[in-house]
Amino acid sequence: KKITITIDGYSSCGKSTLAKQLAKKLGYLYIDSGAMYRAITLYFIQHTVNWNDAEAVKEALRSIHLEFIHNQITGQSDMYLNDENVEPLIREMLVAEKVSEVAAVREVREFAVAQQQKMGKERGIVMDGRDIGTVVFPHAELKIFMTADPAIRVERRFKELYEKNRNITLHEVKENLELRDYIDSNREVSPLRKADDAIILDNSQLTMPEQLDLVLQWVEDAIMA
Ligand code: C5P
Repeated sequence: KKITITIDGYSSCGKSTLAKQLAKKLGYLYIDSGAMYRAITLYFIQHTVNWNDAEAVKEALRSIHLEFIHNQITGQSDMYLNDENVEPLIREMLVAEKVSEVAAVREVREFAVAQQQKMGKERGIVMDGRDIGTVVFPHAELKIFMTADPAIRVERRFKELYEKNRNITLHEVKENLELRDYIDSNREVSPLRKADDAIILDNSQLTMPEQLDLVLQWVEDAIMA
């Protein structure tokens, strides 16, 4: 039996790292819901769409086609925006700075959530994000809410970004994570919160193999339930 697994939590808690490993181990499909909000944000920036104008947003969304395509070389899924691989671009600070504002827009969320639900029709998926256990798949068999020490999260994200861009500063990364967590937790539409039936995973002190072992046990329990 295959199940639906949701992983929600604050920025840079290690959700996607765990989700990818878990999906690989189980032979499930991994879906990065944040990549979709990032791609929409990139489009809005590129086309100077005013995301505070609901009509402009609706109009722009009609021109956006999102797709995940498997990359043979990396073995991972890349985000495609209107048939263009935007994977490196959506990870840049320019997008990170605006994505939470865009993701707070009702029309944007409706657009993304509908597609996420469609992708999850088939069982055997791991999806990570902010509202997956609460809004996208409220009936998922296994819901995980990840947390980690804020200092550890900043450090992790900084290392990741610094590898690609030597100009980035720790301060900048810290500000961005704090801002995104604040907006994500306080927005009107589906704010980030733990689903009542989600299991908390604090990975501040856990290695990747330790986390994986723990979660695989939860998966087994969920399948048996
Ligand atoms: O997961 P990631 O950090 O790439 O997500 C980028 C941003 O997209 C988050 O800070 C949040 O504003 C938004 N997001 C969301 N709901 C999701 C996934 C991401 O609002 N399910």
